Amino acid sequence: MSDSTPAPRLLDLHPRDWPAWFEQRGAPGFQGRNAARWVFRRGATSWEEMTDLPAGLRAQLEAEQPLITAVCEARSEAEDGAVKLLLRLPDGASVEAVGMPGTMGRTLCLSSQVGCAVRCAFCASGMEGVERNLSRAEILEQALYLRREQGEFQRIVMMGMGEPGHNLDAVLAALDSLIDPEGMDFAARRITLSTVGPKGALEQIARWGKSINLALSVHAPDDTLRHELVPGVRKRSLAETLDEADRLFAATGREYTVEYVLLAGVNDGNEQASALAAQLRGRRCHINLIPYNPVPEFGFQRPELPDQEAFTARLRQAGLSVTLRRSLGRQTDAACGQLRRRQRNSPPRPRFSA
Ligand code: SAH
Repeated sequence: MSDSTPAPRLLDLHPRDWPAWFEQRGAPGFQGRNAARWVFRRGATSWEEMTDLPAGLRAQLEAEQPLITAVCEARSEAEDGAVKLLLRLPDGASVEAVGMPGTMGRTLCLSSQVGCAVRCAFCASGMEGVERNLSRAEILEQALYLRREQGEFQRIVMMGMGEPGHNLDAVLAALDSLIDPEGMDFAARRITLSTVGPKGALEQIARWGKSINLALSVHAPDDTLRHELVPGVRKRSLAETLDEADRLFAATGREYTVEYVLLAGVNDGNEQASALAAQLRGRRCHINLIPYNPVPEFGFQRPELPDQEAFTARLRQAGLSVTLRRSLGRQTDAACGQLRRRQRNSPPRPRFSA
């Protein structure tokens, strides 16, 4: 390793490799396994807390390489209990992480990038394009922070800022740390990755082979409208993307979810419902209709409830399985990227006490 290459952060390594990281520092390997247990099972977010590591080693690591480097600079809580954290990273970039209560327990919603290159017409995350990818450690830190704040959780969705399909190596590595028995031992089937399906992404997930759930952001029944609403996939047809999702189903055995943001007068008409039904008939998917969460900078409107219900009914009449989502956290900058936009130029707040 050259002098200019920084030593890897512990959280950037697979938990299986933590013992070797300790050995490189002259410490016994079993301490790496203990540290992984502290972090992933017992919720430690600092070396300090790992009371069965020697005090000298803890102090040295705390000084040389803090376990967590993000700072929480804003927190907002919706009436329904959804908590959104804005985490500032050491280079000044910031990302959102959300914990949402629900009937099936708490769900964590994690970000994969700072900003987003897909630039969906209705999404706040991509308004300024992509700033950078998040590392494996930076994705994991979001989960560790939210657990610290809110306690245990039952589901993880990669549905925060960013397009996971544009940063798949780091996203799948982070999920590996969460799924691995030496890591959090979190069940793959409780994890959902949401993507617009960029070239190669669904195949890579299939090759990776863990049975996570796929949520495919579709938003339109035909290529012309989809390319307008989701400019980042202009080179791809909906049919080829859905075929790839079908192949991923064949690999994982998990039916996928088709996500469709309902925009009044844009993609919520009767004919569009019929065209969507025709695209999806015979595929192993469930449709999740998401009424648009208003972003002030955009001109879109959320359809009235009767129109949402009419669209839902038409898909059901066509024999499809559909959920019309009730919107969580409307009051508190709930749509992706909104808290970050509001907070951008405010000064940072002190880090959470560990
Ligand atoms: N980049 C991933 C994850 C995005 S967030 C993806 O596109 O799938 C998860 C879902 O929320 C996506 O389907 C996204 O299109 C949707 N979304 C983004 N902005 C929204 C808004 N203002 N209102 C409702 N849904 C929105």
